[in-house]
Amino acid sequence: MKASSDLRNIGIFAHVDAGKTTLTEQMLLLGGAIRKAGSVDRGTAHTDSLPVEQRRGISVQAACVSLHWNGVRINLIDTPGHADFASEIERSLWALDGAILIVSAADGVEPQTELLFQTLKRQSLPCVIFINKTDREGADVPRTMAEIRKRLTRDAALLPVSPAAADAAVPDSSAASAPSAQGAAGFTSAELHSALIDALSSRDDELMETWLETGDVPDSRLLASAETLSGQGFFHPVLCGSALRGQGVTELLDAVVRFLPSPDMAEVPARSEVNPLCGVIFGVTPPSALGRGAWVRLFSGALRNRDSVQSGSGTPLKITQIRDVDGTDTGALDTGQIGLVYGLTGAVTGQILGNPSKLPRSVDPGSMAKPLMTVQAIPDRPEELDSLYKAFLELAAEDPLLGVRFLRDVRELHIQVMGRIHLEILAEIIKNRFGLEVSFGKPSVIYKETIASEAIGSAVYTMPKPCWAILHFRLKPGPRGSGITYRSRVSFRDIPERYQHQVEQALPTALAQGRLGWEVTDLEITLEEGNYHHIHTHPLDFIVATPWGIQDGLRNGGSTLLEPLLEIRFLLPADSVGKVMGDIVLMRGEVKDSSDDGDRTILTASVPAAECLDYSERLAALTGGRGSMAAKLCGYRECPPEKGAVQPRRGVDPLDTSKYILAARSALEGGIFDA
Ligand code: GDP
Ligand code: MG
Repeated sequence: MKASSDLRNIGIFAHVDAGKTTLTEQMLLLGGAIRKAGSVDRGTAHTDSLPVEQRRGISVQAACVSLHWNGVRINLIDTPGHADFASEIERSLWALDGAILIVSAADGVEPQTELLFQTLKRQSLPCVIFINKTDREGADVPRTMAEIRKRLTRDAALLPVSPAAADAAVPDSSAASAPSAQGAAGFTSAELHSALIDALSSRDDELMETWLETGDVPDSRLLASAETLSGQGFFHPVLCGSALRGQGVTELLDAVVRFLPSPDMAEVPARSEVNPLCGVIFGVTPPSALGRGAWVRLFSGALRNRDSVQSGSGTPLKITQIRDVDGTDTGALDTGQIGLVYGLTGAVTGQILGNPSKLPRSVDPGSMAKPLMTVQAIPDRPEELDSLYKAFLELAAEDPLLGVRFLRDVRELHIQVMGRIHLEILAEIIKNRFGLEVSFGKPSVIYKETIASEAIGSAVYTMPKPCWAILHFRLKPGPRGSGITYRSRVSFRDIPERYQHQVEQALPTALAQGRLGWEVTDLEITLEEGNYHHIHTHPLDFIVATPWGIQDGLRNGGSTLLEPLLEIRFLLPADSVGKVMGDIVLMRGEVKDSSDDGDRTILTASVPAAECLDYSERLAALTGGRGSMAAKLCGYRECPPEKGAVQPRRGVDPLDTSKYILAARSALEGGIFDA
C-alpha cells in the first residue's frame, strides 16, 4: 500500500463572503494547478462551476480540487457558507482529515463562524485558522485574534515565524525566525512568540517546564509542539493575509502541510493485516455517459477497476472507472484517497462502502442541520408533473436531505428544503438541468406531533379471513426530546418472536404521520397484550395491524402539535439591540443571554422557526448589513393550535379499516407504507 503521508484532504469553511472561493483560487495558482486565478466577482472562479454560482457569486455546491505543495498533494474542498447549504458542508466533512477556517479581519468572528467551528470541534477535525482581508479598510487583526480566543477557542495563536521555518532544521530560534507575513498583523514578533508559549504551555507540560526553567522556548520547539497538538485537534495555528492579493497564502499552504494531519495519521482504527474495504460516498454527480459518478473517500482497503462492490440492495456492482480529483483516469483508489468512482449504479450520498466500523466519524445525514420547511412544487405546465417528480428524485440522490414526496391521491408534489435561498437555487437547477419551469406554494414549517394524554390503541385484525393479529398498545406522552421508545410485555407464546419483530419493524411507518399529518415523536409505546393464531395468522398480518393499533391509540389520546424551535445567536451594533429584542418577543421568542463584545452586542434567543424564516433579510435591512445571525435547531415545543398547520394525510388512513385492509393486502410492497 502506498504511503499517504504525502497527502492532505482539507476543507475550507467560513461564513458567506469571508473569501473561501478566492482563497481556493490563490492556492490553486500557487500550487501550479491553474495558470491564472479566476475571480468570484467576474464569475470565473474554478470551483463555482454552476451557472447560478457564477451569476450570483456564491458557492452552493462543495467543489473538490487538487494541488501540489512541497511534494505533498492537497485535495481541497471549497464549501458553501450559507446556512441553507449545511447539508453540503456536512457531507464534505465525511471526506476530510483537516480544515481551514476563514475569519474576515474586517468583519470578525460571525455567529455562523461559531457554528462552523463547533461543528469542526464536534467532529474532532484539526483546523488552522486564516484571518483574511487584512488589506481591507477597517481590518483589525489584533481585535479579530481577541475575538477568536474569546468566542472560538483559547487554543489558538498567531505564528511568530513562517511554518516552513523549522523545516530547515535549525535549532536556534533566532536563525529560524524567517520573516513572516504575520509581521503585518500589528504585533511584534516578541508578542507573538509569548502568545504562542502561552497557548501551548497549557497543553504541553514539557514546554511549560522549559519555559519555567529558562524563561524562554525556542521557536523551533514551539512549532514542533504546535505541530503535534494541532494534528490532534488541541491547538489551532492562526495565519493572516489577503486572499485577494495573494498575501499570506504561501505561509498558509506551508501550515496545511505542516499542521494538518495526513490520512494515515488521522486514521483512527489500528491497521491490521486484513485491510477491509471502508469508504463513504460523500457526493454523487449528475448522470453522464458513464452513469452517475460517486465521490468516494476511502478509510481502509482499496478499489480497482472491475472490482465488485456490494450495493445497498445486496447485488454486486462492478466498478467501471476511477478518476482522481483532477479527473485523471487512475483506475485505482487507495486508503486515504478521494476519487470519483463510476459503475456504482444507484449510488446515493451518504452510502457506506464495505465495513462501517472503520469510519473515523459517524456518517449521519442531518446531524448538522435538517430541512425545516416543506413546500409544494408546482410545474408551470401541469403535464410536466411527472417529469418534475423525476427531476427532484434525481436531485434527492445527490442530496439525501432533500425530502421529496408525491401524494398520489391528489397528485401533489411536496419537497423539504433548508430555506428560501435553497428554494431559489433549486428552481434554477431544475430549469438549467432539466428544462422545467417550477413555482412553489406557500412554505410551511415542518411540524411534529405527539399524543396529548395516555391512551390504549387496539387493532383486532381477524376479518376478513384468513388473518389473525390482535394488538393492544399503551401510548404515553414522553418527555420533550425523548423521541420514540418501545417495549413489549407480551410473551413469545402469545405472539411469537418473529411477529413481535414485525411490529417493531412497522413502527417507523406507523409513526411517520399522526392524526395531524406530521411525524409523531416523544411517545412511550408498550405492547401490553395481543395474540396470534397458529392457523389463521398470515405472515404479514402484524405489519398490517401495527399502524392501525398505533393510530387508534393516537386518536384516543388526542394530539399535540409541536413546532421546531431555533436557537439564534445575534451579533448586533449597539443601536439595533432594542429593536431586535422587540422583534424577538413579537416572534413568540425569548432572549436567553446577552453580552457585550467591544462595540457590538451578542444576543442569544430561542425563537419558533415558523416566525423567523425571513429574519436574516430583515436584520440586514434593519442594521444596514452590520448585524448578523446564525440559527440552529434546539428542539420542539408545543405550538398554539391557531399558529400551527395540519397536513392532509398521505395514503389511506388505517382507521378507515375496511379500505385500509384492502389497500394493505393488495399493495404491501410500495403502496401505503411509503406513501
Ligand atoms: P466566499 O463566499 O467565502 O467563497 O467568498 P468569496 O471568495 O466569494 O469572496 C467574497 C467577496 O470578498 C468577493 O467580492 C471577493 O473579491 C472579496 N474578497 C475575498 N478575499 C478578499 C481579500 O483578501 N481582500 C479583499 N479586500 N476582498 C476579498
Ligand atoms: Mg464561495
